Amino acid sequence: MNTMKIQIITLFPEMFEGVLNSSMLWKAQDRGLVEFSVIDLRQFGLGPRNQVDDPPYGGGDGMVLMVEPLSKAIAHAKAQDETAKVYLPTPRGKTFKQSDAKRVAASEEGLIIVCPRYEGYDERIIDWVDEQYSIGNYVLTGGEIPAMVLLDSVTRLIPGVLGGEESAEKESFQQDDVSIEHPQYTRPEDFNGKKVPSVLLSGNHARIEQWKDENSR
Ligand code: SAM
Repeated sequence: MNTMKIQIITLFPEMFEGVLNSSMLWKAQDRGLVEFSVIDLRQFGLGPRNQVDDPPYGGGDGMVLMVEPLSKAIAHAKAQDETAKVYLPTPRGKTFKQSDAKRVAASEEGLIIVCPRYEGYDERIIDWVDEQYSIGNYVLTGGEIPAMVLLDSVTRLIPGVLGGEESAEKESFQQDDVSIEHPQYTRPEDFNGKKVPSVLLSGNHARIEQWKDENSR
């Protein structure tokens, strides 16, 4: 059994505690299918104050993460897993889709995810990066939430993480921009007059499958 190593480089390690220690991500670690480690970028900072950011050349608002601490942190992560691929969340990247999550999960290669902050990062870090990705057309405060999006969407596709082996194949976005799963219902059958579609209670598997197809898009 292969254990996928996922390393996260961040200035805010505490943001990952709840996410990595809950539900499927916790189970995936518990089953030895994935191993997460969170690396504090601050320990690679420069000088007595472990500086990691500086104002941008050419002027502009805010601070930018410096290339030296970032490259040192990536080198440290690579030393733990030399074939790991480095991912950089950035609005400049291609939008991350379900097909990307499948491709990354199937590769079985380790991941190193770098989480920028402030106004971004010194562009020269790109030489250490294998893939830049965006999670959509809006600006977040830092790369931590996009890192969680990547590691969650990939981990749940690793064989053995989800309960039913087929469930990932029947989910939404199998063709990325199209194909949304049918609506789901559970008890009670009648909630304040809102009823579960009767076909789902019929026990007729052929009709149920037909309803599911008709109500997927
Ligand atoms: N000044 C940057 C710009 O205008 O493109 C935004 C910087 S943002 C405040 C800080 C960091 O959050 C980014 O460098 C990136 O790592 C991450 N980030 C923000 N929005 C993102 C998105 N939609 N997809 C991926 N990463 C994002």
